[in-house]
Amino acid sequence: MVRKAMFAAMAAAFLVSCTAADEQAGGDAAPPAPEPIDAVAAVTDASAAMGADGLESITLSGTAWRVRNGFMQTLNASPPWRDLANERTWDEITNYVKTIDLTQPALRATGDTFASDIFFHAPVEGTYTLNANAESGWGQQMEIWLSPWGFLSGAAANGAQAVSQMMDGNEYSVVTWASPMTSPGGPPYTLTGYINGDGLVERVQTRIQHNLAGDLLVENVYSNYQDVDGVMVPMTIEQQRAGGGLFGVDVAEATPNPENAAELVTPPPAGEGGGRGGGGGRGGAEPPEDLAEELADGVYLITQGYEALAVEFEDYVAIFEGGQSEARGQAVLDEVMRVIPDKEIRYIINSHPHSDHSSGLVPFLRAGITLLTHENNVEFLDMIFSTPRTLLGEETLSPTVEGVGDVMILGEGTPNQLELHHIPNTHSDGALVAYMPEHGILMQADFTLTTPENPFVVELAEQVAELGLEFDQYLGVHASQVPQSQADLMAAAETSAAAIAARDQ
Ligand SMILES: [Zn+2]
Repeated sequence: MVRKAMFAAMAAAFLVSCTAADEQAGGDAAPPAPEPIDAVAAVTDASAAMGADGLESITLSGTAWRVRNGFMQTLNASPPWRDLANERTWDEITNYVKTIDLTQPALRATGDTFASDIFFHAPVEGTYTLNANAESGWGQQMEIWLSPWGFLSGAAANGAQAVSQMMDGNEYSVVTWASPMTSPGGPPYTLTGYINGDGLVERVQTRIQHNLAGDLLVENVYSNYQDVDGVMVPMTIEQQRAGGGLFGVDVAEATPNPENAAELVTPPPAGEGGGRGGGGGRGGAEPPEDLAEELADGVYLITQGYEALAVEFEDYVAIFEGGQSEARGQAVLDEVMRVIPDKEIRYIINSHPHSDHSSGLVPFLRAGITLLTHENNVEFLDMIFSTPRTLLGEETLSPTVEGVGDVMILGEGTPNQLELHHIPNTHSDGALVAYMPEHGILMQADFTLTTPENPFVVELAEQVAELGLEFDQYLGVHASQVPQSQADLMAAAETSAAAIAARDQ
């Protein structure tokens, strides 16, 4: 009963939040409050309208796309992330085939695409694969239930609730149900579907726990429905996360109840059909020694992980970069408090909002430390860090996020003067570097001096010259094995520019 009550409260809160969002978007007249309706009838009517009553499985094929590098690895923090005119922002997936078997249930999708990297090296041929079944984690399993047919079958089996709601002048049946699967924080995962006046499922939403974005909203949007052998099939599908489109399908063909459905959803034996590439794991950690290396009086490099720079001023401390994970962020915070005790840590500075450079921010925000980030990132980071974290079983954060423009100077006129400079570039439009003129230090993230080339290094070198920055130490959040200097940056920029010019010929 407790769970039911909690679920009802969550669903109600969710519906209220949707209504509030609609009001903001919609303008003058407040829409009428949602009216409870008969959920069984709503689901039964939609199944009939969708031609889903006898549907046990379906195969969709066509062309898909995905935002390059994925959620929170995009050029701009706030959506839209896919810029049709900029081919570097997304990858096409050809020969895309997805089969959903509602009887098992199971889902498998495959396709051909490119494995591109963030440095824009020549893309390498790769594959796209997604497998899900009842044993999968919610991140995979939700793909079954987010489909229009999976949503309706789940609603029929899991005691749905429903309201009638006006949105943009149209009436929708909004159906919500709780999955039997519970989150690490305890509450069940829930699904909410928006069924239009024709009985078609236009949108299905769920939430999944995310270490940065809390109860991350995932929604599939369905449009351009066509009748295929009596089954209504959306020919255009888009998946959005935190409000931005990340993945889409242009369906060319659909086959309801394919004869070989069970075969189509069965992954090949291990060793065939590779999965998606993940980030490189770090080797076994050595027993920790002191993380802090003193670079100057009150200036510490925090080593052994994504590196951070802690700078002491008269009244407070600022830290550039929070690290790649919550554990790393906590380790950085603990180490700074050890080497600079009894002083307020006022600012944690975000090099750029990519997830591997933002995951470590959480412990700082939990400690009430103000986040400084480039102004382009403020709206998005404030939104995701303010999102409830019930699925993680955590308290909602109350972040203070302040924007930095082209430049911000901390401790001006003191030996530890710290300048934060915005560096416009094609990796992130919200990137800051840390520059300490008195100590001759420049610290950056992802302007790594790589071979054969890193276009962002070219962009940084140009702006370093333009701003007249001078330094002996070129420090990286991704630490170099050997000391690097301004001369190394300039040399790498020249080599990279030449390699790019040669490749583009
Ligand atoms: Zn990055």
